[in-house]
Amino acid sequence: MEKKKYVYLFSEGDETMKNLLGGKGANLAEMTKLGIPVPQGFIVTTEACNKYYEDGKKISDAIIEEIQENIKKLEETTGKEFGSLENPLLVSVRSGARVSMPGMMDTILNLGLNDTSVEVMAKLTNNPRFAYDSYRRFIQMFSDVVMGVEKRLFENLIDEMKEARGVHFDTDLTADDLKELVGKYKELYKKEKGEDFIQDPKKQLIEAVTAVFRSWDNPRAIVYRRLNDIPGEWGTAVNVQQMVFGNKGETSGTGVAFSRNAATGEKEIYGEYLMNAQGEDVVAGIRTPLPIAKLEEQNPAIYKQFMDIVHTLENHYRDMQDMEFTIEEGVLYFLQTRNGKRTAQAALKIAVDLVEEGMLTKEQAILKVEPKQLDSLLHPTFDTAEIKKSTAIAKGLPASPGAACGKISFTAEEAKERAAAGEKVVLVRLETSPEDIEGMIAAEGILTVRGGMTSHAAVVARGMGTCCVAGCGTLKVNEEEKTLEVDGKVYTTEDYISIDGSTGNVYGEAIDTVTPEISGHFATFMAWADEIRALKIRTNADSPRDTKQAVEFGAEGIGLCRTEHMFFAEDRIMAVREMIVAKNEEERRAALEKLLPMQREDFIGIYEELEERPATIRFLDPPLHEFLPHTDEEIEELAKTMGLTFEELKNTVESLHEFNPMMGHRGCRLAVSYPEIAEMQTRAVIEAAIEVKKNKGYNIVPEIMIPLVGDIKELKFVKDIVVRTAETVMEEKETKLDYLVGTMIEIPRAAVTADEIAKEAEFFSFGTNDLTQMTFGFSRDDAAKFLNDYYERKVYEQDPFAKLDQNGVGQLVKMAAEKGRATRPNIKLGICGEHGGDPSSIEFCHNVGLNYVSCSPFRVPVARLAAAQAQVKNPR
Ligand code: PEP
Ligand code: MG
Repeated sequence: MEKKKYVYLFSEGDETMKNLLGGKGANLAEMTKLGIPVPQGFIVTTEACNKYYEDGKKISDAIIEEIQENIKKLEETTGKEFGSLENPLLVSVRSGARVSMPGMMDTILNLGLNDTSVEVMAKLTNNPRFAYDSYRRFIQMFSDVVMGVEKRLFENLIDEMKEARGVHFDTDLTADDLKELVGKYKELYKKEKGEDFIQDPKKQLIEAVTAVFRSWDNPRAIVYRRLNDIPGEWGTAVNVQQMVFGNKGETSGTGVAFSRNAATGEKEIYGEYLMNAQGEDVVAGIRTPLPIAKLEEQNPAIYKQFMDIVHTLENHYRDMQDMEFTIEEGVLYFLQTRNGKRTAQAALKIAVDLVEEGMLTKEQAILKVEPKQLDSLLHPTFDTAEIKKSTAIAKGLPASPGAACGKISFTAEEAKERAAAGEKVVLVRLETSPEDIEGMIAAEGILTVRGGMTSHAAVVARGMGTCCVAGCGTLKVNEEEKTLEVDGKVYTTEDYISIDGSTGNVYGEAIDTVTPEISGHFATFMAWADEIRALKIRTNADSPRDTKQAVEFGAEGIGLCRTEHMFFAEDRIMAVREMIVAKNEEERRAALEKLLPMQREDFIGIYEELEERPATIRFLDPPLHEFLPHTDEEIEELAKTMGLTFEELKNTVESLHEFNPMMGHRGCRLAVSYPEIAEMQTRAVIEAAIEVKKNKGYNIVPEIMIPLVGDIKELKFVKDIVVRTAETVMEEKETKLDYLVGTMIEIPRAAVTADEIAKEAEFFSFGTNDLTQMTFGFSRDDAAKFLNDYYERKVYEQDPFAKLDQNGVGQLVKMAAEKGRATRPNIKLGICGEHGGDPSSIEFCHNVGLNYVSCSPFRVPVARLAAAQAQVKNPR
């Protein structure tokens, strides 16, 4: 067997090798191929990283040997040598995953310096200050990143020295000062590590490579991967590159540049540089960098070469580039290039411009914008300058994007009152329940201590487009006393809080928010996405208001109208409660009679907003106890208004208690016990459609959806009620109307028997929230409590309630889709679980041939783009 290659010189790779060499490595190789001046080096592959973990966090001897061989080759090309007394080689060691993960992993500069090479550098450059400054930086970085000695300890030493010398800036320290400081740094190192600072550059290098591999699994990298859908199995490569120095005097310098404006997308080269400086000086902001235009005055020849390379790179990659460069004694080098990170506005402008400039096709341009980025165009965000000044006091799940700021409200009722009085409030709850709906609507944002990505708060907030941070377990909230405590500090209803639903961050102060502007590029770009995509996009909406919003965002119909949400409104809840406490069918029918006109009005409103777009209306789903109060006080109060005794109502509440309500008396099981509920709902659906047809001329084809079916007999039972009632209503109104009856597939048994179920169901909608809950066997409301342990211990990488588990739950979806089609070839297939708004899950739905995805209104644009991307990647 041929020996596996784990190390590549830059000159041995190219841009197609991203998976193996990482993004940065592949680009360095490509730049080398293009003849751009790149300090040379080699790449230790992502496969070596994976092997490091397979071997129990150890670099194998074979890989070490291969690294040594490549050091030799690098020494030959550069004419420099590790540890040389004449011309020492120094390198940088940087991480580089397939996609860039800024600041997540570690970097080491000036590796190769030791007690002797520092002297040689001092002589060669005739600049001892530079040599000792590089060495002290290296010792600090290496000790911190590789050996785990805290950076702060070194910073204390340099601060002490500055104080002793009476100076302010590092740059005011002399060569002798820095030499003395190096001595102190080494002493500190010895004290902390019990051995001398490593002098052998080859040993330094192996330790540094190991540290980069190790950093792939540091906590912040794990969190970043989870938020950005990056699988742990990708691993990181390590780039070892010859150092060039921008701090060798006034003919040297260093800088960063973007080939277009990363904030606005304008076609203008944006760059900054500093002469006589190293990269970190530009970033650290101690000295103010100069705009790139100044370089033309300072050195026109270099400026021209720089501009030529920027154009070459942008034309080559056909995308906006983010580059780092260094000028060493009048010679220009490019240290890296990558597709630049950009704001959503810039991303859209650049994508549209590149098509207009003939650089990209529409299909290629569609892949250039990250779907989730569109979120920031639809919601307020924090003022960037303001947010930089604040530190988060806690972090929860980024449950619904956007930013919100307001005074704390601990109950929904209070939130509603204070908002009505003109105050801005953030609703803070242990968890929300359907009764909180009005407070949730009134609040600027919602923060909960418990609950995951499909918890009530998260789902409802996403539906309304309100910012929400859920499952923020470090907050101690006392709803009775109306206090929130974190890290010993107590916040009350008079304090401000700010929450960021895109990151999960919570701030204990007021931070200004800004509303983004939607530019014309958005419409152009989204029109291309619509031309391309094969999946239809529907929305989950249960009010005319949400429906209108979703249609404005491009929804092509409703995929899920949860009728129970209408029951919680103030004017209905009493009738719903009467229905629940009814002692017999007659009383129940009387209560339902009251609900009928209200429900019919809701549907009329929704149909009118939809015009003729399709609407899937789901019948009552939650367990009935959700509509009743639970504390004795509340029961007492309600009993009075309902003309019942406390005991009577208390008994009803207790009789509805279930040990596991999510697997209890809910969904179609309610209609089996109380057929009259399904009758009333059918009547409302059909009467509303007839009315809208009469008044507006819209041809509505309602799709009635029966939830939580596990057996064809359940579906058949409820469907018979629906058909019977619908026929009666049509006869009464002397109008014919087409309608469909279908089911949710959200119980594993339904997926397994989908071929039978399709005999009765005219459509399936995959309810992947429940399907995930029931397939994994863990509760969607409680899993957030322990899933964090799973991520930390790398048992899971992703929240299966946010991102479809393609190997398990996804296989049930795929199988049910195939079985359904086998029985009924034209069966309509969709998804309405929260995954319907998640880009990677949408790609899966496209690949298994669903007809549509349905998601909350504010995720509709994201879904349109994700569906187009799926079609470009895998045309169907
Ligand atoms: C589902 O289970 O995926 C679904 C959409 O229904 P609900 O979230 O209302 O249970
Ligand atoms: Mg469900």
